Amino acid sequence: MTDTSATPTEPERFDVAVVGAGPAGMTAAIVFARLGLSTVLVAPEPAGRDARTTALLAGSVEMLRTLGLWDAVSAEGAPLKVMRIIDGTRRLIRAPLVEFSSAEIGLEAFGANIPNEALNAALRAAAGAEKSLTQVPAFLEALEPGEVRATLTLSNGQRLAARLVVAADGRNSPCRAAAGIEVRSWSYPQSALVLNFGHTVAHRFVSTEFHTETGPFTMVPLPGLRSSLVCIVRPEEAERLYGLADDELSAEIERRGQSILGKVTVEPDRQIYPMSGMVPKAFGRARVALVGEAAHVFPPIGAQGLNLGLRDVAALADAVAGVARLGGDVGGPEVLGAYDRNRQVDVRSRTTAVDLLNRTLLSDFLPAQGLHGFGLYLASRLGGLRRMMMREGIAPTMRLPKLMRGGKLDTFDLHPSRDASDN
Ligand SMILES: Cc1cc2nc3c(=O)[nH]c(=O)nc-3n(C[C@H](O)[C@H](O)[C@H](O)COP(=O)(O)OP(=O)(O)OC[C@H]3O[C@@H](n4cnc5c(N)ncnc54)[C@H](O)[C@@H]3O)c2cc1C
Repeated sequence: MTDTSATPTEPERFDVAVVGAGPAGMTAAIVFARLGLSTVLVAPEPAGRDARTTALLAGSVEMLRTLGLWDAVSAEGAPLKVMRIIDGTRRLIRAPLVEFSSAEIGLEAFGANIPNEALNAALRAAAGAEKSLTQVPAFLEALEPGEVRATLTLSNGQRLAARLVVAADGRNSPCRAAAGIEVRSWSYPQSALVLNFGHTVAHRFVSTEFHTETGPFTMVPLPGLRSSLVCIVRPEEAERLYGLADDELSAEIERRGQSILGKVTVEPDRQIYPMSGMVPKAFGRARVALVGEAAHVFPPIGAQGLNLGLRDVAALADAVAGVARLGGDVGGPEVLGAYDRNRQVDVRSRTTAVDLLNRTLLSDFLPAQGLHGFGLYLASRLGGLRRMMMREGIAPTMRLPKLMRGGKLDTFDLHPSRDASDN
């Protein structure tokens, strides 16, 4: 449903412009189009293959189910029923093995490990089938936030105007910069080597994380006798492993994984990701709302990144729906203020938790190692604490957005943001 009040010389008008078609952007575009808002997705054609996998946890599963995408996506992934942590350090203070079982909190699984290619393909198909969604295969070149609308200039020369710009344009977000939102960013002395591998012993849907002196070494189930690996080590060690021949790397992974999955055979497509973090000062400002990696960058520990990204989209949908229902401005201060308050708590608490976990693991400082070991010791002994950690790990205790509680999307028959200021 496009706002037809534009003239040929004026930019084409939309309620919502989503910039970036990673998983967060595609989900946002589908959600806002289904809300009944005129929506445009500005994104270049996808570049290259992404062999990574993503562990999607309960709230994300519920959201994809509500959007009618979960069946297609889950068919390509493996359920995550148990998460096991093994202290693989050689330190004085070592933690006992801890197992978090989804059955202990009444769930069949915490979620599922999904190949990114499968998730992106399902989202791309759903976005393509959305009649009220306009897609423009171009880069955003400039964004001018305005009093009533933001104006977007694209690499194909097109100009668009939108009440709300959803910045899903990744960690270096040009939209975030145009809105003048400052960030705090940092890096870790670590890189993640990422690949998938075959093995001879069944994983039984158990994800295993070895905590080592250089970071976690995590093996996450895929369908059949396959798993994905995130191996966090010093950058020079990641480079060394990356350069090994297939049989040498397979043997090295089997050794580091204590042969619990039997003989390992690595698949092609190794990747290295330097580890870093970022949080913005605000999550919404000047008609721009940040979602996904434009709103937070995490090291790949604890499966937080995209789960939090989908929570951004669902929380923004709640804020927008509340205002649009009353015919208000979907990109105005009321929406952005409510969204910012919601995301500050969720994103900052998770950033602190992941940072603390990683730093206590890396630390040579004995009390920090003790804190890490003692936390895991308590989790292994105290069922109540373990259950609380599991519930908090898969979703925050704060009220979840509607889309993650199995709530249906509200839709609007009327164009919600047309008001006197449009004339
Ligand atoms: C090794 C690894 C493992 C991970 N595992 C997990 C996991 O198990 N669970 C989990 O929840 N998360 C995980 N994550 C995090 C997750 O992958 C990210 O949170 C997610 O991919 C971010 O998606 P996004 O859509 O926000 O950003 P991106 O996928 O980066 O998409 C941004 C898009 O914006 C586009 N763009 C940029 N500039 C412009 C412009 N000017 N105009 C138009 N478009 C533009 C880009 O082309 C890109 O397509 C992992 C990350 C890594 C690195």
